[in-house]
Amino acid sequence: MENAMQRARRALKEVFGFDSFRPGQQEAVSAILSGRDVMAVMPTGAGKSLCYQIPALVMDGITLVVSPLISLMHDQVMGLVQSGVRAAYINSTLSPRQMMLALDNARRGVYKIIYVAPERLATDSFMNFAKNAQISQIVVDEAHCVSQWGQDFRPGYLGIEPFIRELPVRPVVSAFTATATDNVRRDIVRLLNLNSPYQVSTGFDRPNLYFEVRRGGDRDLEVMRFISEHQGQSGIVYCATRKRVEQVAAMLRQNGIYALGYHAGMSDEERKQAQDDFVADRVPVIVATNAFGMGIDKSNVSFVLHDSMPKDLESYYQEAGRAGRDGEDAVCCLLYQPQDVRLARFLIEHSTEDSQLDEQTQQVVLERAYERLRQMTFYATVSGCLRAKILKYFGETPARDNCGNCSGCLTQLQERDVTREAGLIVACVIAMRGRFGKGVVARVLVGKKTPRISKLELDKLSSFGCLRTMSQTMVREMIDEMIACEMLEQTGGEYPLLKAGPRAREALRGDEPIRMALHEEPEKVSKKRRRTRRSDSPLYERLAALRRRIADEQHVPPFVIFANATLHDMAERVPTNRAAMLRVAGVGERKMERYGEAFLAEIRRYEEELR
Ligand code: ADP
Ligand code: MG
Repeated sequence: MENAMQRARRALKEVFGFDSFRPGQQEAVSAILSGRDVMAVMPTGAGKSLCYQIPALVMDGITLVVSPLISLMHDQVMGLVQSGVRAAYINSTLSPRQMMLALDNARRGVYKIIYVAPERLATDSFMNFAKNAQISQIVVDEAHCVSQWGQDFRPGYLGIEPFIRELPVRPVVSAFTATATDNVRRDIVRLLNLNSPYQVSTGFDRPNLYFEVRRGGDRDLEVMRFISEHQGQSGIVYCATRKRVEQVAAMLRQNGIYALGYHAGMSDEERKQAQDDFVADRVPVIVATNAFGMGIDKSNVSFVLHDSMPKDLESYYQEAGRAGRDGEDAVCCLLYQPQDVRLARFLIEHSTEDSQLDEQTQQVVLERAYERLRQMTFYATVSGCLRAKILKYFGETPARDNCGNCSGCLTQLQERDVTREAGLIVACVIAMRGRFGKGVVARVLVGKKTPRISKLELDKLSSFGCLRTMSQTMVREMIDEMIACEMLEQTGGEYPLLKAGPRAREALRGDEPIRMALHEEPEKVSKKRRRTRRSDSPLYERLAALRRRIADEQHVPPFVIFANATLHDMAERVPTNRAAMLRVAGVGERKMERYGEAFLAEIRRYEEELR
């Protein structure tokens, strides 16, 4: 007879269409099937869902999945139903009648997997159902929501453990998260009362992500510069405020880049439309606050640009981690300016205001938030390997100190002869009569017209734009160096002004060469990136178009029909019959039945046209 693990493998192939488990999956599945609790920490895109969905199919009885977000449940259930799994969700979007119907079905054993919001567990109707049903597994997805150390603390999660205690028979409990520092991990085990859980950890590293920090400079300019380096790719721009979202989206559209905004101030309808258009690749760039993302599973995101620094590395890594879930190379870039710290502090201070925590807890939560902000600032400002910093923050020891695939590793200091430039800078500072700070001086030098500069007629100076071939970041770096060697001087106070320094003459005369070690321009650094993303083949485009037509007909997002990785595999293998189609990663039996013929026909048409 087939044992449980063999049945698990069969489900992997037949239901989900995959030949092999990914790292961590087999261990988790096998532990759950043997009745042992599991605590799994796996990065975004690692494939946590299969770790509990496969045991759910193999075991008798029902699996309950506690999940924090309605949109997340919805997508997961749609995906499962497409694969022929009997699944449903129970949350506040159902009418009382639908709710009754769903619970009735559940009682009659219609569903193998039921997604539920944590708050629902405590209701009488649900408890009543659960006490009389055979529940074989309880899954806590996004389990970090149970911890006050985390950034997504959700009080409802504290109700999970009491719920489990009420059940007549304790089912196996499995907890999953992508983001867990030591503290959070300990909290999950303790607060869910996991029973000596089998710990799965596949490590946090996402080798296909290139990390980059760009400091200083003009924000708008830097956003435009980055986006034009990634023209034609799909990506997310995260902004700190709704207002900034609107600004950046408008700026991109003015510059001919089709972009939509997404924030909590928009209507549900508008938000849903923007998200759907982005997920379906109808719009390449989405500009969003952190309200966007937790509930989406779009695998072909090529870049995530942060317009400003988030409040902690958990948020940053989670948001940046939405890039490259398909395993293809992707870029995560953070634009940093010193005032980001002030804004983050403001957001932290106001985040606990209307929470229901008592004062003492609130204080603790605040202090931890400030400490996390400090670590985030460290990531953005201190040189060194960015990947190593992230991994260390999450308690891992990086394999190397230099990953070679982040701007921290690729940016080198270069010695340059800047005799001419130093002279021009001093001349400019003198022409501006020491009445302005570093920012204004740098903008005048690179020729950036702002309303203030026009008003003060600084654009009439002969120095205006004399260093227009350099970036503002580089000019500011030179100014810093010149302050350090006393060619320039900076006054104290809240708004420091730039003046000529004791050694200004040397720069003006220019008879001795002046050399400086400066960072390279950021776009040069990103050009050095080892690998570039491959472009989609014509067949892939055809298959994706077919997928979109089917998705539109059925009113589901394209990825629940086939993932991009599946279409890539299909475009590479070019299957021409049923058996070959079943070998494509992500084509299970049910999907074959439903869509196999349509895709085979499209491939045949494509081949004929080539002849
Ligand atoms: P997570 O919840 O860890 O972020 P998901 O469970 O959403 O990740 O899975 C991410 C993607 O990986 C999905 O598109 C899924 O189909 C795919 N995937 C999961 N397991 C495998 C596997 N064993 N082989 C191939 N693809 C897989
Ligand atoms: Mg998940």
